[in-house]
Amino acid sequence: MITDISRPSDKDLSRLASLLGDRATLNEPIGPYTTYRVGGEASIFMRILSVEDLHALSRALSKVRVPVIVLGRGSNMLVSDSGFRGVAITLGPFAEQISLPQINEQPILIAGSMASLPVLARQSVHHGLTGFEWAVGVPGSLGGAVRMNAGGHGADMIASLISVRLFHIDRGIEANVSAANLGLRFRGSDLTDQHVVLSATLRLSWGDSAQGEARMTEIVKWRRDHQPGGQNAGSVFVNPVAGATSAGALIDGLGLRGYRIGSASISDKHANFIQADEDGSADDVAEVMTFIRDRVSETHGIDLRSEIRLVGFSSAVAVDAGAQSLFEQKHDSQLDAAFGTSADTDLSIPMPTFSEQLSDDVMAELHDAFTGDLTPISNLRVVRPDVHTSESAGELASERANELASESSVSSLSLKTNDGRIVIVDEELRLPTDSDFPVDEQTSSVHIAPTSNSGTIIEDSRWASRRKVVATNASRNKKRLLVLAGSVFGVIACVLVVLASPIVGVRKIDVEGVRYMNADLVTSVKKSLLGKSVLTVDTNAAERRLEGDPWVDSVRIRTYFPTRLTIEIVERVPVAWFIGVDNRARIVDQDARVLAVETGQPTAYLQITGVGANLAPGGSAGDIYRAAAQLAKALPDELMKVVLNVGTAGPNQLTMTLRSGTLVNFGQPVDVQKKLIALVVLLRRQDSKQIISIDLTNTDVPTVKSK
Ligand SMILES: Cc1cc2nc3c(=O)[nH]c(=O)nc-3n(C[C@H](O)[C@H](O)[C@H](O)COP(=O)(O)OP(=O)(O)OC[C@H]3O[C@@H](n4cnc5c(N)ncnc54)[C@H](O)[C@@H]3O)c2cc1C
Repeated sequence: MITDISRPSDKDLSRLASLLGDRATLNEPIGPYTTYRVGGEASIFMRILSVEDLHALSRALSKVRVPVIVLGRGSNMLVSDSGFRGVAITLGPFAEQISLPQINEQPILIAGSMASLPVLARQSVHHGLTGFEWAVGVPGSLGGAVRMNAGGHGADMIASLISVRLFHIDRGIEANVSAANLGLRFRGSDLTDQHVVLSATLRLSWGDSAQGEARMTEIVKWRRDHQPGGQNAGSVFVNPVAGATSAGALIDGLGLRGYRIGSASISDKHANFIQADEDGSADDVAEVMTFIRDRVSETHGIDLRSEIRLVGFSSAVAVDAGAQSLFEQKHDSQLDAAFGTSADTDLSIPMPTFSEQLSDDVMAELHDAFTGDLTPISNLRVVRPDVHTSESAGELASERANELASESSVSSLSLKTNDGRIVIVDEELRLPTDSDFPVDEQTSSVHIAPTSNSGTIIEDSRWASRRKVVATNASRNKKRLLVLAGSVFGVIACVLVVLASPIVGVRKIDVEGVRYMNADLVTSVKKSLLGKSVLTVDTNAAERRLEGDPWVDSVRIRTYFPTRLTIEIVERVPVAWFIGVDNRARIVDQDARVLAVETGQPTAYLQITGVGANLAPGGSAGDIYRAAAQLAKALPDELMKVVLNVGTAGPNQLTMTLRSGTLVNFGQPVDVQKKLIALVVLLRRQDSKQIISIDLTNTDVPTVKSK
């Protein structure tokens, strides 16, 4: 698939950047956001921290048209060396939440679009669900998986997806869309760059955790045996005949394993994988793709199609490499139908409606504007019934009123006439009627505004003088209005000048509470605040940026007139750590939110035993880890000295190992405080060295097994 290749001008990009303000950063390298880890910068980059940020983006893009790309976990994407001229967005921690069903509920799982597929697979199986094991080896996000209809091992997203919550960038609206309307097909969907998946709802089944774990172990082993690690984006080409001819076998048959162009090569382990070297070039990867396609086409007459999303490449390069063109995307998709086409949706400001009787001035203006125009405008229609200049306005009005009163349909009002006076028909507002135009009893939806009488326009002397008076009044009123508007504008301009003045610009910033968080981020936020007026500085945006750091719990920025500002940061406190599948330690706080990922084993905090998910900082390790972290935090000093580690057994059991080797079973994570007290009391009475295990499942009767 090729990204929109339209190249926005520098002017458009900088206008968009200024509309987005602090929410965006410029010239962000986005290669590192992909599993190929090669490629250049995005002109504008936004980490979306809430749906409000998407609304801000949508509003800004409605003023300046610039291409957008959503980055998931970048495992199906290749960014060109020259980068992406547009806005690249990625969703922050708010889109990583996973909500699992209670045991007595329907097996329905809801997860944010940035939830990683392996984590989802593992957490669902841990929780006793089955149906998502296949995703354990697919290193993408849920959002990317929806858009690509990812799959493997005999299943895909279609099998479990019920619906997604989307944000439509172009329309600036959020909507729930059922899976049936997404146009899901083999490794593709109708989703375009305008559709940001916020979350997805999956229907799985209740099953056996042990079986699920065994299935995942099998899948992980199969992947290790058959697929290479390193910098790649999985299979490059789609099998030309699903289930029959494999793209890998075709490439392998040509003896191309190991073939290299510059810094990219065809994997020795799997011929449909292209590996990029560290610090390699995306253009080399694209060249290898083109080379493979040419060779397969020459030999077998088959045009391979790539499932990798090529970003920032020229359309010629992308087409040669086999990426699907934007122009091949369906534009009359089911998704369009679900949203309705743009033309169906009126996003303009609604027509004003009149709630008061119209003044003479307004009537005169309406007459000028609508003389001879019979076109209906929304619910307001202006029509000009026939007139006899010899008749007086009063006679005409009453005659016309009788005529109208005897007519039963609204449409009859707007016909027949081509000069004379104005009648305003307002179908929605029940304005008081006047005696000349009584309510039509039969069609109570038709009401004739009293203005119709005063709006009588007859080219006689009475009308001419009346018009003159009205015109003079109107021009006097206009002048008054202009003077008033001028003064208001002047006052506002003065206030703005004072507000934006450097006299009240921020010069001193005190930061409190920083211990663990990213110091560069603090410096960058401080830099963005310095010099801004203390009266108008956008502290909310700065707070949101700081809260994007996984170590940060909350931030409060206070301004002090005339030039001082304080940033108060409350950081999260590390309490424990666990090992991920990748053998790296995840340090977590009491909510089991991952604060940092480290190589080696931290000694400052307690270990939660077992192997957990490969979560990135900001990710949540789930309920049982939260319970284990809270247990670690709640340990009194007396116990802290004798505890070696805490742990989890299955999805719902807490354990602990003492330095003496004694195993403590806490059972379900309920009444933990009570269980801790029981343990302290027990250990005061008995030497733990003499105890093999303690079972605290029943707090009233702890069971002790002695040596
Ligand atoms: C080693 C390896 C093995 C793989 N194995 C498989 C496999 O077995 N089966 C399979 O199907 N794929 C596989 N893939 C490819 C890839 O992991 C999947 O396609 C995955 O679903 C892509 O998710 P992502 O978050 O990485 O998407 P990205 O690569 O970030 O993006 C892919 C597309 O989705 C869009 N997108 C991403 N997030 C969102 C969102 N929130 N809203 C809207 N659009 C979004 C992007 O704009 C882009 O168009 C593999 C990749 C690797 C590296």
